[in-house]
Amino acid sequence: AKQEGRNNYRFFTAEMQATSSRNLQLVNALRYALERNQLSLHYQPQVSLHQNCVIGTEALLRWHHPELGSISPAEFIPIAEDSGLIISIGEWVLRQAVKQAKLWMEEGHAPLIMAVNISAIQFRHPDLPNLVTQILEEIGLAPEYLELELTEGVAMYDPQAAIEMMNNLHELGIRVSIDDFGTGYSSLSYLKKFKVYKLKIDQSFVRDISTDPEDKAIVSAIISMSKSLGLQTIAEGVETVEQLTYLRAQGCDEVQGYFYSKPMPAEQAEEYFREFKLR
Ligand code: C2E
Ligand code: CA
Ligand code: CA
Ligand code: CA
Repeated sequence: AKQEGRNNYRFFTAEMQATSSRNLQLVNALRYALERNQLSLHYQPQVSLHQNCVIGTEALLRWHHPELGSISPAEFIPIAEDSGLIISIGEWVLRQAVKQAKLWMEEGHAPLIMAVNISAIQFRHPDLPNLVTQILEEIGLAPEYLELELTEGVAMYDPQAAIEMMNNLHELGIRVSIDDFGTGYSSLSYLKKFKVYKLKIDQSFVRDISTDPEDKAIVSAIISMSKSLGLQTIAEGVETVEQLTYLRAQGCDEVQGYFYSKPMPAEQAEEYFREFKLR
């Protein structure tokens, strides 16, 4: 048994070493990703089911490394958080997204709300409201065109601190939405205290919405609860017309997903906005 234990131990460390050496490689590469122009933003349209138009867009970070290829944010964002690199990367994302929103506005597009993902570490940084204000002023974008997406888990980690941060952002006129809603454990009493204006229904509930009665019930409950609390709803991961039909019938305000479009580079997104037709 002792022998076996040792083998297990050895096997386990070899596996851990493989992951950690990939992580180490990624941290080292990520350190230079910004200055070497390997990071970019893609934009995914958010479609209003009431106004029948694109009313916003979510900025999603992309990393293309010359040797390692494209690395998914699901893999590198946690690494950026653990290493602290998320602070500088997150600031770059904010500035880049705000610049893009301003550019589209100057080019005469109907005003779009730019939604930017904020990581746990950024959200806990007391300087976030100052940073955001500084970027908005520097670029000349009104705060109501910026929305910060915060996951439910981040908001609930320290609800009291989250309430304070949300109040500060709200006072500055910046919108906050709750991402991946339904996957965390928000109690309704907190939802009332959080200064948020929109809930993003997690894609795991949307996926089987047309076949799974439980998912149907959850989504419809989130939508009606949001209505009674005066919150907007957006469903993410909408891929099929069946999903869209159900969401529309339930009174969901907005949708986002491959049904309309994948996240795209800025120029392509711009063309999409110009030629958008509701389906
Ligand atoms: P998220 O914020 O929940 O973003 C939604 C993810 O779902 C995106 O993956 C998007 O490309 C994908 N998606 C959109 N529509 C569909 C659909 O119809 N079907 C399916 N299956 N997927 C869809 P992505 O771009 O790989 O990003 C993954 C996660 O990485 C994001 O999840 C977010 O948590 C994080 N992330 C991305 N960009 C940033 C960033 O700039 N800052 C921070 N802190 N996190 C980011
Ligand atoms: Ca998001
Ligand atoms: Ca999400
Ligand atoms: Ca997610």
